[in-house]
Amino acid sequence: MKSTAIKKFSVTDLDAELFTPFTISTGSHKSLENAVFTLEAAGGEKGYGEAAIATHITGETRAGTVKSLRRAGELLAGRDAADYLGAMCLLEKTLDGNRAALAAAEMAVLDLATRLQGVSLWKFFGGRSPRLKTDVTVVIGGADAAYDFTLKMRRRGFKIFKIKTGVDMDEDFRRLEAVRRAAPGCAVYLDANCAYTAKEAEKFLKELMRRGIRPEVVEQPVKKDDIDGLAYLSRRLPMPVCADESAYSLDDVFNLIRRNAVTAVNIKLTKLGFLRAREVWALARAKGIKLMMGEMLESELASCAAAHFAGGLGGFDFIDLDTPFFIKDSGMKGASFLSSDGVYSLDKVRAGIGIRPAR
Ligand SMILES: [Mg+2]
Repeated sequence: MKSTAIKKFSVTDLDAELFTPFTISTGSHKSLENAVFTLEAAGGEKGYGEAAIATHITGETRAGTVKSLRRAGELLAGRDAADYLGAMCLLEKTLDGNRAALAAAEMAVLDLATRLQGVSLWKFFGGRSPRLKTDVTVVIGGADAAYDFTLKMRRRGFKIFKIKTGVDMDEDFRRLEAVRRAAPGCAVYLDANCAYTAKEAEKFLKELMRRGIRPEVVEQPVKKDDIDGLAYLSRRLPMPVCADESAYSLDDVFNLIRRNAVTAVNIKLTKLGFLRAREVWALARAKGIKLMMGEMLESELASCAAAHFAGGLGGFDFIDLDTPFFIKDSGMKGASFLSSDGVYSLDKVRAGIGIRPAR
C-alpha cells in the first residue's frame, strides 16, 4: 500500500511565451507568468497545481502568490493526502485572500489524492461528460487580425468564438463582422470585461443584432459591482447575461441570483477555488442559472483540471478553456487528451489531472 502522507512541497515559476498577446478591455498578458505548486507523498507520488496570476484582473501578484503557496506547503506537510477534504477546508481558511494560490494548492491536493487512488479527477467529480469542446477567444485588436485569427481557428475545427470587446465600439462592430465573415454560421459569445454602462451595453447589443449578429451569451458587460446594471440588461436582452468579475464568491452569486441580476455565471477555479466552485455550481443548478466554465491565462495543467471539474459535474452550457492554444511551450506533458481543435477527452486520463511538468 502506497503511503499517502504528504512529505515535501515545492513552488516553481511557470514562464512561457505566447503566440499573440492575450488582450482584454482591462489589460494584457504578453507572456505566461504563473506558478506551479508540487506536493510529494512519502511513497514518491506527486500532485501538481497551477496558480494563474492575472494581476490586471485580480490584483494578485506572483511574489505574493509564491509566498502563499509556501505557507500552504508548510501547512500541508505531514498531513494525509487521503484526507483531501480536511486539507481543502484548511486551505480555504488560510488562502482566502489569494485565490490563485488557493486554487493551485487545492488542485495539487486533489491531483495527488486521485493519483494515489488511481482515479481520474473527472471520475472523482462525478464522471458526467467525458468530452468537452471549448470555444476560442478573439482578443482585442484590429478587425483584420480578428478575421485572420478566426479563419485560422475555424479551419482548425473551432466552431464557437468568444469575442473580447469594450475598447472601441465602432471597431468592435467591424471585428464582429469580420468574425462572421471568417466563420459564417458559428456561434459567438461576447465578453466586455466590465467595459460598459448598462445603457451603452444595451445600445451595443441592439446595434449588433440589427446587423444580424446575435451572441449566445453576453459576459460581464458592466462594472463588477453594478448589480442593477446586470439586472437591467437581463430584463432587456434576449440572450443570457453572465456574471464573471461580479461572481467572485458564493455570497456574490447568491446575491446576484436573489436580485434576478443574471441568468448565467462564469465559474473559474482561480476566482473561487475547488470547494467554493462546487458550491457555486450546486447553487446555480438549483436555481436554473446557466453555467460557463472559464479560466484566467492557464497552461494545460490548470485548463485540464478545470475541464475535469466541468466534465465530472456536468451541466455546463458554455466551455471557455482555450488558453493553452495561446501558449507556445508551457513545458507541460500529457496533454494528448486535448486535441488541436479544442476537444478535451477526459475518459483517456487514467489518474489525477493527467498533466505534469516535463522538467
Ligand atoms: Mg470573462
